[in-house]
Amino acid sequence: MDKKLAILLDPEKADLSALPITPDCHPDYIFVGGSTGGDTTAFVLAIKEKLASISFPLHGGIEGGLPIVLFPGNAEQFTPEADTILYLSLLSGDNPEYLVHQQVRAARAIHGSSITVIPTAYILIDGGVETSTMRVTGTKPLNPLNAEGIQTIIDTCIAAELMGKKAIYLEAGSGAKTPVPPSVIKAVREKVQIPLIVGGGIRTPEAMQAAYHAGADIVVIGNHFESHPEDLQKFLSAKRSVRETVCTLSAQRSDDERFMTLAIEEARKAFSSQEIPIGCVIVSQNQIIGRGHNLTETLSDVTAHAEIQAITAASQTVGGKYLPDATLYVTVEPCAMCAGAIGWAQISRIVYGTPDPKRGFRTYAPRAFHPKATVTSGVLETECRQLIQEFFKLKR
Ligand SMILES: [Zn+2]
Repeated sequence: MDKKLAILLDPEKADLSALPITPDCHPDYIFVGGSTGGDTTAFVLAIKEKLASISFPLHGGIEGGLPIVLFPGNAEQFTPEADTILYLSLLSGDNPEYLVHQQVRAARAIHGSSITVIPTAYILIDGGVETSTMRVTGTKPLNPLNAEGIQTIIDTCIAAELMGKKAIYLEAGSGAKTPVPPSVIKAVREKVQIPLIVGGGIRTPEAMQAAYHAGADIVVIGNHFESHPEDLQKFLSAKRSVRETVCTLSAQRSDDERFMTLAIEEARKAFSSQEIPIGCVIVSQNQIIGRGHNLTETLSDVTAHAEIQAITAASQTVGGKYLPDATLYVTVEPCAMCAGAIGWAQISRIVYGTPDPKRGFRTYAPRAFHPKATVTSGVLETECRQLIQEFFKLKR
C-alpha cells in the first residue's frame, strides 16, 4: 500500500482550533483515541464540524475526504460517528481485560453500527518511558533492544497474522523517548504481509522516513502538530519523497532482474557444456560491456570463473583496465579470487543471486571490493540456486 500519515488526537487533550488542516495540506487519517476517557462522540462531531468549516470533503464525499479512525482505549470510547475503528487487542500483554473483555463489551454496539472494523493487533514496544497505556492496562512493553525481545515481537506479529488480524500497530507510546527501531520494523515486515501501523516518539520527518523505509505503512504522529502546526507540510513533503525513492528503488530492482536474467542465460550456457552453471554480465550505462560463464573444465583452468571472463571482456570493450562505473551481475556470490579481481577492476556495484556460504567472499574476503562499492544480493535468488542444484543432481 501507499505510505500514509495519521495524526492522533486525544479527546481529553487535543485543541481542535490548533489543528493545522486545510484541503490542500492534511494527513491521510485522523486517529481519535486516548488511554483514559473523554467524550469521543462529541469530539468526533467537533472534528467533522471543523472539517466542514474549512469546506473539507468528509469521508465518503466525491473528492476523497479524510477518514476519522477510532483508536479506542476502552469500550466506552466507541462511537458510531467515526468512519472506521481499529478493533484493538493488546497482544503484547497478558491482561484478559484488554485482550478480549473490552472487545466483548463493545461488540454489540459496533455490530449494530455501520462503522468499518479493522481487527488490529496492538503491540506495546518499550520506548524508554512508562506510558499511561502501560499503567492502565497493567502490562509491560516488549523490549526492542535485545535479541530475545525482538524475537518475541516478531513472533507476536506472526501470531497476529495467523489469528486473522488485518493490521498490526507497533506502539512505542505517546511521549516515548525512542520510537520503534527501524530494524525491528524491518524484521517484522519480512515476516508478515498485513499493514503495519507504527506510532510513538516520531517527531521528525527523518524518523518518519526511516519507519517508512523499514516497512511501516502508516506512521502515526501524536500531539506534535498542535505545538508545531508548520511542521505538517514538512512531514507531508518528506512522505512524498519516500514514495519517489520507493519508485526509484523498484525501477532499479526491475533493471537488476533484467540483467540477472541475462547472467542466468550465461549460466545456462555453462550448464550445457557440463560446467558448473554460473554466469555473469557487466553493465555500464544500461549497456552490457562484458559477459561470461564458467569455463574451468573446458579450459582446464581453475581461474576461468564467470566473473573473470566477464571482466576481461569488459576491459576490452572499454579499452581500459578499470571499470568504476560498472555494475557486475553474477548468479552466485563471488569467490575470494573473483572478489579480488572485482576489487582490482574498481567495479562500484556488485549484484549477485544466491549466496555461497562455503566459497563466497563474505566469509573469506569480505573487504576485497573497492571501499565505496555497494553490494545487492538475492536478485532472482531462487532461479540462480535451482540451476546449481539441478546441475549437481544430474551429476550424482
Ligand atoms: Zn570465482
